[in-house]
Amino acid sequence: MTLPAHAQVVVIGGGIIGCSTAYHLAKDHKANVVLLEQGKLTSGSTWHAAGLVGQLRSSASITQVLKRSVELYKTLEAETGLATGWKMTGCLRLATTDDRWTEFKRLATTARSFGMEMQLISPAEVKAMWPLMETSDLIGASWLPTDGQASPSDITQSLARGARMHGAQIHEGIRVTGFRMDGRRITHVETTDGAIACETVINCGGQWAREIGSMAGINVPLQPVKHQYIVTEKIVGLAPDVPTIRDPDRRTYFKEEVGGLVMGGYEPDPIAWTTGDIPRPFEFQLFDDDWEHFEQHLTEAIARVPALETAGVRQMINGPESFTPDGNFILGAAPECANMYVGAGFNAFGIASAGGAGWALAEWAMTGEAPLDLWVVDIRRFSSLHCDREWVKERTLEAYGKHYTVAFPHEEFETGRNRIVSPLYDRLKSHGAVFGSKLGWERPNWFASPNIEARDVYSMGRQNWFGPVGDEHRLVREKVGLFDQSSFAKYEVTGKGAAAVLNAIAANNVDKPVGRLTYTQLLNSRGGIEADLTMARLSDDRFYIVTGTGFRTHDLAWIADHILVDADATITDVTEDYGTLSLMGPRARDVLSAVTTADVGNAAFPFGHIRIVPIAGHDVRALRVTYVGELGWELHIPLAATGDVFDALMRAGALHGIRPVGYRALESLRLEKGYRAWGSDITPNDTPFEAGLGWAVKLKSNLPFLGREALVAQLNGPQRKTLATLTTGRDDTVLLGRETILRNGDPVGYLTSGGYGYTIGKPIGLGYIRHPDPQTGTYELVVANERVAAEAHFAPLYDPENLRVKA
Ligand SMILES: Cc1cc2nc3c(=O)[nH]c(=O)nc-3n(C[C@H](O)[C@H](O)[C@H](O)COP(=O)(O)OP(=O)(O)OC[C@H]3O[C@@H](n4cnc5c(N)ncnc54)[C@H](O)[C@@H]3O)c2cc1C
Repeated sequence: MTLPAHAQVVVIGGGIIGCSTAYHLAKDHKANVVLLEQGKLTSGSTWHAAGLVGQLRSSASITQVLKRSVELYKTLEAETGLATGWKMTGCLRLATTDDRWTEFKRLATTARSFGMEMQLISPAEVKAMWPLMETSDLIGASWLPTDGQASPSDITQSLARGARMHGAQIHEGIRVTGFRMDGRRITHVETTDGAIACETVINCGGQWAREIGSMAGINVPLQPVKHQYIVTEKIVGLAPDVPTIRDPDRRTYFKEEVGGLVMGGYEPDPIAWTTGDIPRPFEFQLFDDDWEHFEQHLTEAIARVPALETAGVRQMINGPESFTPDGNFILGAAPECANMYVGAGFNAFGIASAGGAGWALAEWAMTGEAPLDLWVVDIRRFSSLHCDREWVKERTLEAYGKHYTVAFPHEEFETGRNRIVSPLYDRLKSHGAVFGSKLGWERPNWFASPNIEARDVYSMGRQNWFGPVGDEHRLVREKVGLFDQSSFAKYEVTGKGAAAVLNAIAANNVDKPVGRLTYTQLLNSRGGIEADLTMARLSDDRFYIVTGTGFRTHDLAWIADHILVDADATITDVTEDYGTLSLMGPRARDVLSAVTTADVGNAAFPFGHIRIVPIAGHDVRALRVTYVGELGWELHIPLAATGDVFDALMRAGALHGIRPVGYRALESLRLEKGYRAWGSDITPNDTPFEAGLGWAVKLKSNLPFLGREALVAQLNGPQRKTLATLTTGRDDTVLLGRETILRNGDPVGYLTSGGYGYTIGKPIGLGYIRHPDPQTGTYELVVANERVAAEAHFAPLYDPENLRVKA
């Protein structure tokens, strides 16, 4: 078959992800699709996958995506006539320690929150299901009956046939060698067999995706890692339908295969493959068996399944798989290019993900919007930091090594630290700062007093920082605290068309007089919240925009993508130009007025305004806003002057007891005030009305904006869900998010955030209640599989304007 001169969509890569994407493009969208594979279909990582298909992830949307895979694998054979090897065997996860057991209790609750029935069962029940297993060291296991296993090559061939049946062309033996570009847009895909003109390119190149991306100036931060498993000869007494096993305390997994076992694991000392380009050719290829490295798994596996000791090993598989720095895969529109989408970096769950990921990618590429909240896998979660291959390798290996370790709440990565530090790093350290990292930035999480060790001690219950963070919280409520938020992402939008461009995408009216700030959401066409930020008008044709550290690439790209080619507006990232100090608390004005000659009284400098104020000889952009529910200012300072301003504020504030305060206190303060966090409480799945942010929507103004039609339609229909604050009666409950909300005993939602409010002295969660009458009813939360009495609130728990503390 000759290559066509033109295709609407070119999919690169004939692994399971590319084939699933082509299948969905052709079937769901009737798109004109050409898939190009340099070797044979499945010849990259797909052919040698073990084939376990798990579904539960910590994100509801990704769990949805994985559930979709299972739905597809169940029915694909009937559609294409090619078997997939799908078997719904269920999955057992084994616990041998108390911490692991707590983790599983929380996992079972998460599963229930996401609409899946995960049971916790006893060692005796495990033994009955899996008689060959040694269970004497078990506390118990989690049991998810709808998980299963499949044959990776068969599913891929079945998807490829399905794609062809719906009109897709699949070409094997053709390698993509480059792209012809017109500015940020790919016009042609160049191959070993000529060029194809196209509108959209989807890079499903597996471990080659980084190389393919770089040919169009796109960064795909992944690292190939060597992953091994063995396949044994037949084992007497092993039933063909035994559940798959994950034994995280022994770092191993098992799956039945033709009467024997597949057994592999995640070692703490993984071996990276190349950080350079993949050598060519690399087709149906494996690495040499590495028994020495694998021995650690073998010892643990024999202890779990003693029959393995005498079972012959039929084959060892040592193959490369792409892993990523945070263990999540990479999906979506590449920010550097106008028309390349990526689906890669599947962290050894590509078989489990492919059915759903291919669906999502096809929707995204055809509509320009992700079909649901896919933030945790969005390629726009990365930044220029992730162009550093050594950094990516180091962090990825740490994430791989932690695949099966107990996931303690609030755990921080240890590698690749101190990458970007604010000018205040040393000063904060001398105040006892314990840092966390966000998009490469070191940020103070909390401050240890001299008599406390300045480090996190992880545990499943309250951790060692609980007390000190409470002191920081109270300082901000009662006196004044100083937050270093220099890592905030900051942009400027300039040009005569700036106000019009921003008003066309902002749900709130940002076309306000110079000196005003607007808190606004940016919506997608479904009315879902794509960004949550502050826009300050500096002059008629200049806006200053501030958003969260982690959203830097994402929000910039969202705004840039919506600036029409002929609009007179330009967006520039100015993050590193300004340090940010948030001075917050009832004494904030006393401190600020002591360091500036500007009038910072309420009349001269009201809430929701920006002024340039001189501090320590520097012009500082002062924004009167708050994320903690207290009087305060965000001070944006020319970066090199951040230290001078910090010192001046600390000196002036000494009289009022000022101290630096960290991000964990910020979280507690904002939860009490009910301020929403993008990515958890407000996402592309939620509209401003559902989130209780209708007051920030300019519906009455009749001004058009992206998402308006969807909001109008929603106003005319029933509201599906309402964001509420929940508190529990028991003070020692640890809330982390994803706990199930029960109303009159029935599940109606789950927590999107969880924490503790030190002023009200109670655990606090935010979450959507899916019920037409949320204000009534008796509420409970399911926390680590236990029901706890709860109260739902629909106004802030803490409201200083009315000097009222509700509890
Ligand atoms: C040992 C091992 C065990 C695993 N076990 C499991 C498991 O139990 N469950 C699970 O869900 N996942 C498992 N995985 C992971 C799974 O194999 C992968 O996540 C999945 O196969 C990735 O699919 P892909 O399509 O992204 O990549 P690939 O299968 O590698 O496909 C990418 C394709 O792109 C082609 N290509 C690259 N460059 C070009 C170019 N320039 N032009 C044209 N074509 C190009 C390649 O030839 C390749 O065929 C395992 C992986 C390994 C290594």
